[in-house]
Amino acid sequence: MNYYHLTSDQLEWQRRVAELAEREIGPRAAEYDRKAQFPKESLAALGELGLWALRVDKEHGGLGGDMVTTCLIVEEISKKCPSTAMCYKMHLESVEAVSRIPTALQLQRFVEPLARGEVFAAAAGGESRGQSGRDWRPVSAPDVPLPSVEGGLRLDNIRKSYVTSAGHASHYIMFCRVEGGRTEGPPDLLMIEADKVDWQTVSEWDGLGMRGNCSAAMVFDGVVPEENLLGIELEGEKEPVMARYMMPVLILTYGAAYLGIASGAYELACVEGNKRFPSGARRLDNPINQRRIAEMSAQIEAARAFLHVAASMADEGRAPSLLPYIQAKVICSELAVRVTQDLMTMFGGTAFARELPFERYFRDARAGVVMGLANDQAYETINQLLFPAEDAD
Ligand SMILES: Cc1cc2nc3c(=O)[nH]c(=O)nc-3n(C[C@H](O)[C@H](O)[C@H](O)COP(=O)(O)OP(=O)(O)OC[C@H]3O[C@@H](n4cnc5c(N)ncnc54)[C@H](O)[C@@H]3O)c2cc1C
Repeated sequence: MNYYHLTSDQLEWQRRVAELAEREIGPRAAEYDRKAQFPKESLAALGELGLWALRVDKEHGGLGGDMVTTCLIVEEISKKCPSTAMCYKMHLESVEAVSRIPTALQLQRFVEPLARGEVFAAAAGGESRGQSGRDWRPVSAPDVPLPSVEGGLRLDNIRKSYVTSAGHASHYIMFCRVEGGRTEGPPDLLMIEADKVDWQTVSEWDGLGMRGNCSAAMVFDGVVPEENLLGIELEGEKEPVMARYMMPVLILTYGAAYLGIASGAYELACVEGNKRFPSGARRLDNPINQRRIAEMSAQIEAARAFLHVAASMADEGRAPSLLPYIQAKVICSELAVRVTQDLMTMFGGTAFARELPFERYFRDARAGVVMGLANDQAYETINQLLFPAEDAD
């Protein structure tokens, strides 16, 4: 269902991706999960529909998808395979800034190949903590800025702790600081072409959930041309490039991916709960289960409506800050945990024994609380946006 009004274009994309997810993506999800295998084939199927260039302008050969459409598409993928949705959403956020504000060189070097389906990107953000000695929190940019050397910026064995699609992407967007650049606020963004630097994955991904997303640690070494920095010509503007161009899609697609876990598990529960046992009874005959399903349906519609309103605020440029996006992320990720936990109870031994994939959704949902903007950090940010420092006593 969709309570938020969708255009015929948005409905058509939702229908097309739902059909693709049912046919191509869902059937592979269990095996990717079992083997912790990168969802190469499912991502390729998205590429064949032109979806790698979803948010590239039509004039540059992309689909020109808006944020509401983006959320619809990520939700439909996640309903069937959250790992595929996670790799795909990381790609979208990684190419967002370059798609929006490319230089002439970046247009030719990155955006046009992206529109031809030759670029699949990943985000090399978080680093091992302890670099600064300031506190225990993870950092997303090195304390030591990348030095300028002949030929560009030097990556001297830079380690990133978790990189979804590690080793499988053609391009990585690195969160960094550069010599002589800003020292405060969101990091700068540097586009790395994987075939032009040395890199290695330094761990095997064997996560509790999101097992197909291959989120391994990586080390990068080499020199990257300064022209690969995104949005440098906007330097000096109030909002850094990352906050303005990358964050809305980064946060909202997290919301869409976790919403998809909740709605995918819920839809499966409606089908399975309606099946009759040999006795003739159905799980959904039980009043406790009826109450559970009714409550889930209300919570899913509320989260979806909120997410789509927040996405439309991004499309219309009327979000006052990142506040509605971050609220959508925590609402959707906590929804996914609640719904999948309840379904583990409702489907009892069948779910626990993995006869139905509720436990996969349950494991995948747990990632939402700790990744991206971890929810504790998200609530802290919400608080700061509600009560800016200058308003504090
Ligand atoms: C499946 C998966 C895929 C990922 N993919 C990527 C990726 O593609 N690119 C990438 O850059 N990173 C990725 N990450 C990393 C992810 O963003 C980090 O896990 C996240 O930033 C938390 O860092 P940490 O794991 O070091 O948690 P820890 O530092 O161990 O944090 C644990 C807990 O500390 C609290 N906490 C942490 N930081 C703060 C804060 N600033 N304020 C308040 N509380 C806080 C929260 O309660 C959090 O849950 C991925 C992680 C997972 C699990």
